[in-house]
Amino acid sequence: MLTELEPGIYYWRGGVNFGLLVGADRQLVLIDAGLDASAPRKALRPFLEQGYRLAAVVATHCHADHIGGAAELHRRFGCPVFAPAPEHLVLEHPELGGALLYGAYPPPTLQGKFLQPQAPCPVAGVLRPGPFAVAGLTLELVPVPGHSPGQVAVAVGEVLFAGDSLFLPEVLEKHAFLFMVRPQAYLESLERIAARREPYLVPGHGPHLVRRPGHDPLPEVLAANRAHVRGIQDRIRAALARGPMSEEEVLLALARQAGKAYDSDPSYYLDRAAVSAHLSDLAARGEVEPAYPEGRRCWRLADSSRGHGG
Ligand SMILES: [Zn+2]
Repeated sequence: MLTELEPGIYYWRGGVNFGLLVGADRQLVLIDAGLDASAPRKALRPFLEQGYRLAAVVATHCHADHIGGAAELHRRFGCPVFAPAPEHLVLEHPELGGALLYGAYPPPTLQGKFLQPQAPCPVAGVLRPGPFAVAGLTLELVPVPGHSPGQVAVAVGEVLFAGDSLFLPEVLEKHAFLFMVRPQAYLESLERIAARREPYLVPGHGPHLVRRPGHDPLPEVLAANRAHVRGIQDRIRAALARGPMSEEEVLLALARQAGKAYDSDPSYYLDRAAVSAHLSDLAARGEVEPAYPEGRRCWRLADSSRGHGG
């Protein structure tokens, strides 16, 4: 379903949202490209019939559900595809998507279309935060790393396409662990979103937010995201207070608390990567450290965090 937020600025509300911008001379720009090209094709059809053409795809980040359709759109329309560094490499080398989760070349179970694009796509240019001119439009790219290494939000007119820099409370409730690679960066990106003033915010998943003076839903959404990150880190500290645990033991302890049991590689490895990211954050802050009891790789609370100097 296509929603027009202001003249020439649309978004497609689906399993994953994407933006559609009308530029100069009947040029169109897509912000993200969907899990595959079927939804973008539907969104584009009425415009193409009126002589518009797809001039570019701009990716907020390179998770498969946001850029899976890029290769086909590029093939069909010859449009350049732009993506932020360093994750643009996943567009050109899809196997990196699974490898980032697995830590090595991914097994077949981690090469599905939800985890990595199914065909490589050439990247015409790497996006950096700041102004980006395309199709007669000037987009402002706002750095929002954390969920992915180099994600950007796209501000244009009165709309902020936030990608997966934040998740709506109804999405948070369904996920024991939000996927993220750097929780501290995720929290800092939330503050960058908090400082924005666009009246419309389009998240990567779920309905858009309308921010009006006296009725602004954004602060509550941001608070729920902060609480999610802090809640996980609190639960990790509490688990490790009982003694050293392997990364998998930490994951399973937290999953059990959330009533979750794993039965497939994608959900196991996505959550495991998120928990690993939180542990890296805690290690960077000196709160946890590696330990090898009986040769087993574990995490334990650092001396200062255990609070008894021994
Ligand atoms: Zn994502």
